[in-house]
Amino acid sequence: MPFKTFQISDGVSLIQETGVANFMRCNIWHIKGRDFDLVVDTGMGLSPLKAHIVAATEKPLKALVTHCHFDHSGGLHEFDCRLGHRAEADILANPANEAVVYGGGWTKIEIVDPKAHPEYRPETYSITPAPLTGHLDEGDLIDLGDRAFQVLHLPGHSPGSIGLWDVKSKTLFSGDAVYDGELLDGLYHSDKAIYAHTLSRIRNLGAEVFHAGHYPSFGQAQMTTLIDTYMAGNNTLSDPVAWFNDEKEKSTDMFADQDWSGAAHG
Ligand SMILES: [Zn+2]
Repeated sequence: MPFKTFQISDGVSLIQETGVANFMRCNIWHIKGRDFDLVVDTGMGLSPLKAHIVAATEKPLKALVTHCHFDHSGGLHEFDCRLGHRAEADILANPANEAVVYGGGWTKIEIVDPKAHPEYRPETYSITPAPLTGHLDEGDLIDLGDRAFQVLHLPGHSPGSIGLWDVKSKTLFSGDAVYDGELLDGLYHSDKAIYAHTLSRIRNLGAEVFHAGHYPSFGQAQMTTLIDTYMAGNNTLSDPVAWFNDEKEKSTDMFADQDWSGAAHG
C-alpha cells in the first residue's frame, strides 16, 4: 500500500506516504466537507495520491499546499484544483530541486526506503510542476459548507507558508510553521525574524489542537513548550546529515509506519 489512512477525528483523516522516513514524511490531511473535500499537502509524489483519496469520498476535491517544499508539494500536480500562497506560485510552477529544498544535506541522507520505492533515485528525483489554479492569502475563507477555515499567512520557514484556522473547533492546520519536532528556520528562503513573529502569533492564537505538517498532532501546552524552546535558541535543526546520523542511532526502523491517531485530539 503506497498510503495509509488514519481516522483522526470527525471528518479529518491523516494520510501517510509509506516508505518515506518518518522525520521526512509529511502529514497529508483529508478534510471532508458538505460541499467539497479539502486535501492539505500532498507528500513527495512517489505514488498516485488522488486515486487513493477519490476512493474514500464522492465529493469534489480542492487540494492546497501549506508551502512549496518537496515533501509537501510532490503530489499537487495530480489535482485539478491547486491552491497555495502567491509568494510560492512561481516555485510550484517551476519546481527546481533547490527551490523546493530538495538538495544539500537532504539528498545525502536516506529519506526513502529502497524496498518500498525501488524506482526512487536521489540523483534523479524531482517534482512535477503544479501551477496554482488559485491563490490563498491572509484572511481568505475556505468554506466547506459545514466547516470553514480562515487562511493565515505564516511566513518564516518559507515565504508563502500558510495555516488553516478553524476558530470554531480551535484547530490549526499549521504546516511547517510549527510541528512537534526540531523546527527549520535556516533554509535558503527562511527568515528568522519573520519566523519569530509568526511563532508569537501562533502562540497567542488560542488554538487548542494542532494538526501539523509533520509528526503527531498536539495540544496547546506542547505548542507553548515548542515555541518557547525555540525562542530560547533551541529546538532547531541546521545540519541534516549530523542530525540524521544521530536519529539513526536512536531509531530501530526509520521507515516504519506509525499509528499516530492515538496522539491526536479534536
Ligand atoms: Zn517545509
